[in-house]
Amino acid sequence: MRERDLRPWLTEPEAARTEGLINLFESLSPEQATEQIAAYARRSDVRYDEESVVLYAGTNVMDPKARALLGSSLSSRPSLGHPGGKYETGLEDAEAIEMGCLTFARQVFGAPFVEYRVASGSLANLYAFMALAKPGDTMLALPTSAAGHATHRESGAAGLYGLRIVDIPWDAERMEVDTAGLAEVARRERPRIILLGASLVLFPYPVREARAIADEVGATLMYDAAHVSALITTQGRAAFQSPLDEGAQVVTFSTYKSLGGPSGGMLLTSDAAIAERIERIAYPGLTANFDDGRVAALGVSLAGFCRYGEEYVAAMLANGKALAEALAEYGLPVVAAERGYTTTHHVALDARPFGGGDHAARRLARCAIHSSGIGLPGEEIPGDYNGLRFGVQEVTRWGMGPDQMHIIAGLVASRLQDRRTPHAIWRDVRALRRDFQRLRFVLT
Ligand SMILES: *Cc1c(COP(=O)(O)O)cnc(C)c1O
Repeated sequence: MRERDLRPWLTEPEAARTEGLINLFESLSPEQATEQIAAYARRSDVRYDEESVVLYAGTNVMDPKARALLGSSLSSRPSLGHPGGKYETGLEDAEAIEMGCLTFARQVFGAPFVEYRVASGSLANLYAFMALAKPGDTMLALPTSAAGHATHRESGAAGLYGLRIVDIPWDAERMEVDTAGLAEVARRERPRIILLGASLVLFPYPVREARAIADEVGATLMYDAAHVSALITTQGRAAFQSPLDEGAQVVTFSTYKSLGGPSGGMLLTSDAAIAERIERIAYPGLTANFDDGRVAALGVSLAGFCRYGEEYVAAMLANGKALAEALAEYGLPVVAAERGYTTTHHVALDARPFGGGDHAARRLARCAIHSSGIGLPGEEIPGDYNGLRFGVQEVTRWGMGPDQMHIIAGLVASRLQDRRTPHAIWRDVRALRRDFQRLRFVLT
């Protein structure tokens, strides 16, 4: 049976690629398949960790000590409930690991209530929606043209849970929330949740203003820090913002993006009533067992962040600024020029002159530079994103600084402006990476 006949919702390229790989595995013995899967994993590690410049904004490299813990047998041992009240016996070590993670999570995020047993940032958002609203309630969230995330929208967790979504007005000139517009929409729509946050973050959000509006209309203010989790830490917030201190009542995020931990999600709150609802959703609501190998890796990542977070965030923000300025010097259309491009590790280009963000990202990938398309306001380009998004969190952890941001900007520009062959650019990317093979900002 052809994949396209079995799953007609796949696109033509998806069906072709899927079918090719399934055919390959169908031709292999279990032993051969085992070897192949390990070989693919090794090749992927080499590709990303040694040979590419990864500017994809939603990823990072883990501390090798944290990564090693993902191979522990903890990952397949169930661990239900809180330490002291576990359902299974023999979990004394797992209990200690869980509390190590919680202790450092509290220190890093300065929050009394932390839910860390969450498999992903998307699920963290679902937990928050369930704790704060009922199906049929209204939530205000950013539109996809302002890089609003799928989980905030009809097609994602919010819509699947039954929330009605109304757009938060976005000031495309200044790349920020239109606060007066938000107040107007909130008074008209009477939402249960106002959700700030998106997958492209160039400037802080107006949290205090949004909280005043939320209080006026009886809504709860939620902040999705998926990409900026490192920037809202006690170590990083002076350079960005502190959503809990400024009035956000629930903060959610992914732990593998700027934070640099394992894949997973987290929720923070200072409100005991909300915390109790979230905990009951986490357990026994939507997780029975959770992956304690991941929790161990997260604990180590957070401990490292306690030590090096401040330096790491400062280096990352300096690189964000340097990359944006260098891209602009090369004549590329960097977004938000009048505001100095960015105050985070994210940088965005208007990708419409290059045939769209996804198209541009695929061209860069041929030279081993990885990135992605992203929604930006403005007249849309059919079948693609208006924006091309970069993040400097990973190159920062590989020890690169503003000089290297300049080199990278030159390589990006020569590819997008078609000034050199892809092979010549690829050779330069490989040569640049060769000098940066040691991770910084990790405990030794
Ligand atoms: C990445 C992202 C998420 C989802 O995180 P996962 O951990 O990948 O599920 C949620 N919200 C925003 C704004 C994101 O960019």
